[in-house]
Parts: sequence; structure tokens; C-alpha cells
Amino acid sequence: MRIIFATGNKDKMREIRAILADLGMEILSMKEAGLTSDIVEDGASFEENAEIKARAIAGLCRDIVLADDSGLEIDALGGEPGIYSARYMGEDTSYQVKNKNLIDRLEGVPDEKRTARFVCAIAAVFPDGSCEVVRGAIEGRIGYEERGSNGFGYDPIFIAPEYGCTTAELSEEQKNRISHRGKALEMMKTIIKDRTEK
Ligand code: IMP
Repeated sequence: MRIIFATGNKDKMREIRAILADLGMEILSMKEAGLTSDIVEDGASFEENAEIKARAIAGLCRDIVLADDSGLEIDALGGEPGIYSARYMGEDTSYQVKNKNLIDRLEGVPDEKRTARFVCAIAAVFPDGSCEVVRGAIEGRIGYEERGSNGFGYDPIFIAPEYGCTTAELSEEQKNRISHRGKALEMMKTIIKDRTEK
């Protein structure tokens, strides 16, 4: 049995391979499996979008297909950018601009109300058509300026309480240990182990 992850992102594939290594299964990206699909992510939640992506690819093969959907929720902005995190202010707008805009929108908001979380939903569609979805999250706060140059996206403005610095100031290993994606992958690993051992 193989696992195909519905992403073209090399960084995600590296993290996924590291976490799922002890399943002892072959793990391929869509590209490595020779699969392509123009998926329209029109779900109303991270979970729905992850399932939409996984089902689209599962229709093209007989493997276990995983897909994820993730983003940043800022409480003082009613959960924005949420499922629109990648599209916020336009896909091609730099994260420097997006991050500055979010900080500007939080002007005057005190520390205790700057709560936010990174969320990651991972869906698995199994060869029998059944689907399991899990959610991992990391709680934190939005800072007052960009800090750090590791990571990507909204990392420079997201302060992780465990470390008291932004996730862009953590090493990849430190971030993976506490990240929304790391947590969701660990949960999914347990589900896949249970299902494939039966
Ligand atoms: P997707 O799940 O690949 O569609 O990514 C959604 C978007 O959420 C990314 O483009 C980033 O803007 C944001 N995002 C998700 N996870 C992270 C993270 O770990 N750090 C910073 N930004 C993230």
C-alpha cells in the first residue's frame, strides 16, 4: 500500500516523510505518482477543503491519499484570514505586505486580545472510499512587527508561547515539533496505523 500526498510543496513533503517514516510505507507526492488535477478549493472549512483535495486525487488512483489545508486565524479579526490565508490580499501579494496589513489592522488591540492560531486539517481517503479528517492547531499571538527569517508565510508575526518568539525565529526542527501540521500528521499516522494493521 502506498500513500500519496496531494501537494506539490517540497517542504511539506520533507516534513510528511519524516513524520510518517515509521509507517514503513512508500510516500509519494502527486507529481512523483504522475498525477495532476486542477482542484477547486471551495469548501467552507479547512476540513472540507482537505477532503475535497484528497477525494479529487483518490479518484485517480488506488492508494491512500492524504491532503491538507491550513491557515492562520486571528480572533480580533473574526478568524481572518482563515481558509483564505493563501489568497489573502491576492495570491501574488508578498507576505511582507500581508503581514504588515494584518499588524496595521490590529492597531490599538492589546496583547491579551491578539490571540491567534495556525490550523491544519489533514484528510485521508482510503481505497474503500472512506475518509478520515483530523485537525491540529498551535495557539499563539500576533506580534507588533515582523521578526525572524525562517519558515514562510505568516511565521514572522506569529508568536509561539512555548518559546516566546515568532515561529520564523525557530529552527525547522523546533517548529515541526509544535506545529499545527506536525500535530495533525501525528494524529493521522495513528489512524493509518490502526486501519492498515487490521
Ligand atoms: P495551504 O494549506 O498550503 O493552502 O496554505 C495555506 C496558507 O496558510 C499558506 O500559504 C500560509 O499563508 C498560511 N500558513 C499555513 N501554515 C503556515 C505556517 O506554518 N506558517 C506560516 N503560514 C502558514
